[in-house]
Amino acid sequence: MSLPVSAWADKICRGACCGCEWEGPIRTRREHAVLDALDHTCPGWRADPAVPAAPSDDKRPARARWVAKATACIGDRPDGWPVRTLRTGNGYAAVARRSPWGDFDVDDRTLR
Ligand SMILES: [Zn+2]
Repeated sequence: MSLPVSAWADKICRGACCGCEWEGPIRTRREHAVLDALDHTCPGWRADPAVPAAPSDDKRPARARWVAKATACIGDRPDGWPVRTLRTGNGYAAVARRSPWGDFDVDDRTLR
């Protein structure tokens, strides 16, 4: 089966790097493109322990407590580092800028 280019364009993703010319392989799932990009920009990030999910309300005191627990568990990481979270339920999307260091919050189930 073939689709018009515009239909394909809505269904494919690629990771890319802001610091060099690297582009990841074409993927049909956004989360896989995110993983490709994180593997390029943050080698070793998959070895970090997964931490409990970020609070759903994400209000300042709850987020500050979560960040403190996550960083105590994982340790110091550079700005732009991702986090693996242990979520439940149906949502598994990688969430940009939600890690304690400003990069993606990746549902640990995505890595299995
Ligand atoms: Zn790069």
